[in-house]
Amino acid sequence: MRQRRRLVIAGSLSLALVAVAVVVIGAVSSSSPGGQAAGGASATPSESPRPAPGATPPPASVDTFDRTAHSLDDPNSIWVVVNKLRPLNPQDFEPGDLVDVPVPHTWDPLLRQEASDAIVAMFQAASDEADLSLASNSAFRSYSAQESVYDGDDLLTARPGFSEHQTGLVMDIGAESGECSLAACFGDIAEGIWVRDNAWRFGFILRYPADKTPVTGYEFEPWHFRYVGVPLATEMHETGVTTLEEFFGLPAAPEYE
Ligand SMILES: [Zn+2]
Repeated sequence: MRQRRRLVIAGSLSLALVAVAVVVIGAVSSSSPGGQAAGGASATPSESPRPAPGATPPPASVDTFDRTAHSLDDPNSIWVVVNKLRPLNPQDFEPGDLVDVPVPHTWDPLLRQEASDAIVAMFQAASDEADLSLASNSAFRSYSAQESVYDGDDLLTARPGFSEHQTGLVMDIGAESGECSLAACFGDIAEGIWVRDNAWRFGFILRYPADKTPVTGYEFEPWHFRYVGVPLATEMHETGVTTLEEFFGLPAAPEYE
């Protein structure tokens, strides 16, 4: 009786091992498109040019980031790209899930729920990790609010219907002290440096980098952060591509049409 039970156990164990092996082999063979491509290339060595000495080697891993996961056009999409060539559509768009953002501020900040949650987490981390106090200087701005903000200088402010603030995914961040508020020197103080270096962890990007005015159409704004979600912010951080226009292969937007 005991002997037979051992045999039964041994038998079912080996069956389980076979099943595991089949699953593993299946997974390996189905998840190696790169391997197949390499095999195909080695079959025709004369057609694959040898890289010149000192040439940059190809990336070790295949880029699997899905650039079509969200719409770039839908104003409700967290990836919507708004610039001087891409107004909001409709131009008086207003998000349906705006909430009050519970952080220190100069003007009452509204953001879409997801972006608000991310801001709260980021401000908390700045306090916990670096003992820095951040504040909001501006967040959602409606079409009509932008009419009063636009000052006629297209390098500094957006025309109504063309402002990323109208998406409900943008906050102009400052130090709670007010130091360098909405000024280039915010990029040089501890609060500005911390946000620049850590925003990606919470799904934000610095939307108007200093060296990208010809692409974005705006001067350096070290305070203006756009929520795009953690996956895209992380991908841009890791690849070093700093603008949405370049990441998605969209035309540069230095001026209005
Ligand atoms: Zn802004």
